[in-house]
Amino acid sequence: HAKDQGRNNWQLYNRSLTAETMARIRLENDLRKGLERDEFRLLYQPQVRADDGTIVGLEALIRWQHPEHGVVSPAQFIPVAEDSGLIVAIGDWVLRTACRQLCSWQATGLETPRVAVNVSARQLRAHDFLGSVAAIIAETGIEPGQVELELTESILMEPEARRIDGFHRLRALGVHFSIDDFGTGYSSLSYVKRFPIGMLKIDQSFVRGLPGNADDAGITTAIIAMAHSLGLEVIAEGVETRAQLDFLRRANCQKIQGYLFSRPRPPDEVEQLLRQGSIRPPP
Ligand code: C2E
Ligand code: MG
Ligand code: MG
Ligand code: MG
Repeated sequence: HAKDQGRNNWQLYNRSLTAETMARIRLENDLRKGLERDEFRLLYQPQVRADDGTIVGLEALIRWQHPEHGVVSPAQFIPVAEDSGLIVAIGDWVLRTACRQLCSWQATGLETPRVAVNVSARQLRAHDFLGSVAAIIAETGIEPGQVELELTESILMEPEARRIDGFHRLRALGVHFSIDDFGTGYSSLSYVKRFPIGMLKIDQSFVRGLPGNADDAGITTAIIAMAHSLGLEVIAEGVETRAQLDFLRRANCQKIQGYLFSRPRPPDEVEQLLRQGSIRPPP
């Protein structure tokens, strides 16, 4: 009987594996069509000054309006886009769309803060990423200083000399760089130093435990102190409560991003916030 059971398990496993593979292939095809059919859109989440809520940045976050499944979150499709290489085309679309959005706001006389765009490691490995960033900046006419690229620690861990050079050239143009989800990867500080990084983004997993969790409080305080002594700016991600904000203010964290101030929002709503210029946190 053990043998029968073993075979049944194998069949089950085999069947589910096939189903999973099929689902993945379907998702990949849908992603490709989604690009052609213009099913992606960007939301923008404000980044504010901790002391007075002035909007100092907007992070562009992609959403996929799937014709059958509704809104699909990036956590569900970015990994597949990375594996299939589609992230290269999607990444270009994201940067171009974000730059155009800023330019179109500016054309109406609105003052805009910089826009931050997420970059996957795969985008850098696949092609002349830094060249295409420069091309999109030139094509859209955006001021390079209004663009920030959010890198992951894994990107810094592949320190290819040519690439470091490319980053420095973009920085010389005015483009800003930050490290996303800081503290969750394995980046060594010596790598951080070799790239023209301007800001560390403290990962939400540390912010979540503030102010009560002693480890999270210690890590957060240490990252802020380290950032300052390296001459870097620091922003806390995922700030949801007044108590978290108060802790971060006392710890001298300059910038805040999180639901407490605003969720990621569509362009028309962001425009309203930009007209106000700042967001008051709930008391
Ligand atoms: P991320 O870059 O770390 O972005 C922050 C995520 O945290 C966003 O999730 C945002 O909606 C969410 N968030 C912001 N404030 C809060 C808060 O107060 N509480 C909680 N619980 N969450 C908060 P989202 O939009 O679902 O994006 C998830 C991840 O997908 C991003 O993490 C990023 O790694 C990736 N992603 C999003 N858009 C793009 C893109 O255009 N290109 C690439 N390569 N990756 C992207
Ligand atoms: Mg990010
Ligand atoms: Mg992050
Ligand atoms: Mg992330």
